[in-house]
Amino acid sequence: MKTFSKLILTVIGIGSLFFIIQLVDWVAIFNPQKISKTTEEKLGELYWEIISKMEKEVKNDSITIPIKKLFNKIADKNELDITELKIHVLQNEQINAFALPGNRIILYTGLIKESENQGELAGVICHELAHIHKKHILKKLVKEIGLSTIISMTTGNGAGTETVKQALKILSSSAYDRNLETEADLTAIEYLENAKMSPEYFADFMFKMSELMEVAKELTLISSHPHSEDRTKAILDNTKLKKDKHQDILSTREWDSLKNNTYNVVN
Ligand SMILES: [Zn+2]
Repeated sequence: MKTFSKLILTVIGIGSLFFIIQLVDWVAIFNPQKISKTTEEKLGELYWEIISKMEKEVKNDSITIPIKKLFNKIADKNELDITELKIHVLQNEQINAFALPGNRIILYTGLIKESENQGELAGVICHELAHIHKKHILKKLVKEIGLSTIISMTTGNGAGTETVKQALKILSSSAYDRNLETEADLTAIEYLENAKMSPEYFADFMFKMSELMEVAKELTLISSHPHSEDRTKAILDNTKLKKDKHQDILSTREWDSLKNNTYNVVN
């Protein structure tokens, strides 16, 4: 009988241990913000090494200068320090943009082509800037691939190129959790309004994405940013600066030239 009770207690003990393990918020314990800057930079470099081998970076000034002007003005009006930010435009028809660890933002030419005006493009840029400034990228990676994989990727023992590629796929084509997306949208609204740009254009872009979803479910920006229809509504509900008060950053000439050059990229 005694042995039986002991057994029951042991089972209960193990059971509650599992229960406790499940309750522990591992992401909070291995706080992504505690990952050293060097580790994050190394991780960013690893990703960039792989991307730059697979994709073609656009280095043409007629494209990179106006894009940088958009970033600089937005950062300036929001007092964001982007001196360490690396912006890469890649020649790729997919409508996509994503942030990498170590202060890097990737924009595809497909995204610039799909943006009907600079307000739409600025909306997506602000959303990605928000992911960086709110430290969402490492939170997502720690949650999906685990801290130990991140560390082994950057220390060179254990994880090989395949693991890095897998992790890269997570960043470029899978969704952040919904709370992080909402936070990035609300922060983007703030950034846009401080730069005197109306977030209504950002809402237009998200709405367009939700319509495109009907015809092309594989569109990357949609798979990495789901629920476009709900998000459109949430953006509009939180917008104070309407379109009639919107001010462009680039002149009409600069914007038209950026768009035209995106169609005829020659590096
Ligand atoms: Zn996002």
